[in-house]
Amino acid sequence: MIIGGGPGGYEAALVARQLGAEVQVVERQGMGGSAVLTDVVPSKTLIATAEWMTLTEQAGELGIGAEGGPDGEAGALRADLDVVDRRVVRLAQKQSKDIRTRMEREGIEIVAGTGRVGADIGPSGTRQVHVSQADGGERALEAEILLVATGATPRVLPSAQPDGERILTWAQMYNLTDIPEHLIVVGSGVTGAEFASAYNALGAEVTLISSRDHVLPGEDKHAAELIEGVFLRRRMHVLARSRAAGARRVGDEVHVELTDGRVVVGSHCLMAVGGVPSTAGIGLEEAGVRLSASGHIEVDRVSRTRAPRMYAAGDCTGVLPLASVAAMQGRIAMWHALGDAVAPLDLTSVAANIFTAPEIATIGVTQRDIESGAVDGAITRLPLQRNPRAKMLGIKEGFIKLFSDRSTGTVIGGVVVAPRAGELIYPITIAVSQRLTVDQLANVFTIYPSLTGSIAEAARTLHRA
Ligand SMILES: Cc1cc2nc3c(=O)[nH]c(=O)nc-3n(C[C@H](O)[C@H](O)[C@H](O)COP(=O)(O)OP(=O)(O)OC[C@H]3O[C@@H](n4cnc5c(N)ncnc54)[C@H](O)[C@@H]3O)c2cc1C
Repeated sequence: MIIGGGPGGYEAALVARQLGAEVQVVERQGMGGSAVLTDVVPSKTLIATAEWMTLTEQAGELGIGAEGGPDGEAGALRADLDVVDRRVVRLAQKQSKDIRTRMEREGIEIVAGTGRVGADIGPSGTRQVHVSQADGGERALEAEILLVATGATPRVLPSAQPDGERILTWAQMYNLTDIPEHLIVVGSGVTGAEFASAYNALGAEVTLISSRDHVLPGEDKHAAELIEGVFLRRRMHVLARSRAAGARRVGDEVHVELTDGRVVVGSHCLMAVGGVPSTAGIGLEEAGVRLSASGHIEVDRVSRTRAPRMYAAGDCTGVLPLASVAAMQGRIAMWHALGDAVAPLDLTSVAANIFTAPEIATIGVTQRDIESGAVDGAITRLPLQRNPRAKMLGIKEGFIKLFSDRSTGTVIGGVVVAPRAGELIYPITIAVSQRLTVDQLANVFTIYPSLTGSIAEAARTLHRA
C-alpha cells in the first residue's frame, strides 16, 4: 500500500508490481502528485515559454527582424498568459492521466481519497489504512507493507494568507490570465528565483525579496552571482537582506510589508517560502514513525522508518526535495521490502538543475567543500564566452566548472551555467557516478563546435602530468 501518488509513490508502485506484489495507491489529488499537477510539470512548462521569449530577445543580434516591427526589430513579441496557462494546465492533466493509464495497465489499483494509517498491527503483521473519500465515504484497507510518500505543500505565513487571486502560492500561479503588472516574489531560493526569472522574461515587472545577502543562498557562489547580475541587468528589483513580515490586499494592489517597516507595492505576490511536509494528522507517530522537529519522516538509506514494515519516500522525508530523489527513494523502499537486490541511497551523484535563464546545473561536491578543506580537490572554471558554439548562438553568460580529486584525478563534481545546463550536466554526472578521471572525460570526442567541447576543455585543464 502506498499513500501518495507523486514520483515517490508511483515509481515505487511500478517496482512493487514488477516484483509481483499486489499494489494499491491511495491518492487524494491525482496521479503524478504535486510534482505533476502543481510543481515540476507546470512550472517547467511555463518556463518553456519564458525560455522562448528570452531567445527572441537575441533575434535582432542574429539578424532576425519581425515584419512590420519598428526598425525591423523583433520587439513586438509578447506572451499571452491565458494561452500559456491553459497549455500548462492541459499538459499537467495529460501527464497525470498518462501515469494513471500506465498504472492501471500494470494492474495497480488506484484508490481516490485521503489515507490515514491505523496504529495497530494485525495478527498476520498487516496494518490498516483508512481512506476518506470525497463523497464522505470511508474505506478500511489492509497492507503488509506500507510506503508513505505524501509529499509537501507550500508554507503559508499567517500574515500573508494566499487569496488565490493576488497573493499566491506556486500552486495557484496558473489561474492568471494576464501577465501581472508587478509581481513581488517573496523568497529567493530555487522556486522564487525560477518564477522571478520566468515572469521577468514574460514581461512583468518583478521584485524579488531575499532575506539573505544574495539570491540562491546555498548554491554555487559564482553561479548565484551570475544569476543575480542577469536579474539586475534585466531590470529586476532585487531587495537583499529584506525579510517579508506579511502581505495584504489593498484594492487591486498587494502591499508586502518588510520587517524593517518598508512596504513594497505590487499587483501580485508569490509567496515562495518553502514547503511543509504532509505528515500531520495521518496517524504516523501513533504508528511508531519518528518525525523530526520540522515534521519530516526520519528514514534510513533504504527508506525505512522507525515503524516495522513502514517505509517513506520523497518530500515528506526532507532528504532532498527533488522528484528524481523521491522516485529513487520509493524504488529503493520496494526493492528492500520485497527482497530484491538493493543499494542504499547515494546522494553524491544526484544532479540538480535550477531553471532560471541561464540554467544552473550542479553535481557532486561543491566549491565550498573544497575551500573549507573537507575535500582535497582542484577547481577549474571556464567561461562559455570563449566557446565557438556559444559565440554563434549569441550566448554571453555562463561557465563550466569542474572539480577533481587532487590525488586520483577523478571527477568529483561540477557546475554548468548555460542555457539548457540541465542537459549539459549529463556527461559530468556520468563522470562523477562512474568515477572517471579528468583525462578520461577530456579524451572523449566532442562535436566541433559544441558547448560540450568546453566540458572536455575544462577537464583537460585539470590534467596533471
Ligand atoms: C514550484 C516547484 C518546482 C519544482 N521543480 C522541480 C524540478 O524541476 N525538478 C525536480 O526534480 N523537482 C522539482 N521540485 C520538487 C518536486 O516537486 C518534489 O521533490 C516532488 O514532487 C516530490 O515528490 P513526492 O512523491 O515526494 O511528493 P508529491 O509530488 O508532493 O506527491 C505527493 C502526493 O501525495 C498526496 N497526498 C498527501 N497526503 C496524502 C494522504 N494522506 N492521502 C492520500 N494522498 C496524499 C498529495 O496530494 C500528492 O499528490 C519542484 C518543487 C516546486 C514546489
